[in-house]
Amino acid sequence: MEENKSNPTINSLEAMRKFSETYAKRTGTFFCIDSSVTSVVIEGLAKHKEELGSPLCPCRHYNNKISEVLSAYWNCPCVPMRERKECHCMLFLTPDNEFAGKNQEIALDTISSMIE
Ligand code: SF4
Repeated sequence: MEENKSNPTINSLEAMRKFSETYAKRTGTFFCIDSSVTSVVIEGLAKHKEELGSPLCPCRHYNNKISEVLSAYWNCPCVPMRERKECHCMLFLTPDNEFAGKNQEIALDTISSMIE
């Protein structure tokens, strides 16, 4: 399968933005004080959702993305996040994390301007 290198559509970005807000609220985690971090991770998740059909973690290197999707370990929210609230992408940060901000929401406009 050829990878789609183009930017994700607004619909995909919006879907992953909503997912991120809902999941942060559900888990009591917060977005990074630097909203460019949050934006780039949401963009990466949206790209993978479009390319692969699943939001594979965008912060890792994979030799074979298709088999990673099938194994499901790194489909967001990944197993380390679900089990221990560990998000190495810094999308979901526990309040004690020095990079955690106060927001569990991020506007689509903010994401769009950060990833331009
Ligand atoms: Fe999602 Fe896990 Fe990647 Fe964080 S580390 S963005 S929870 S897949």
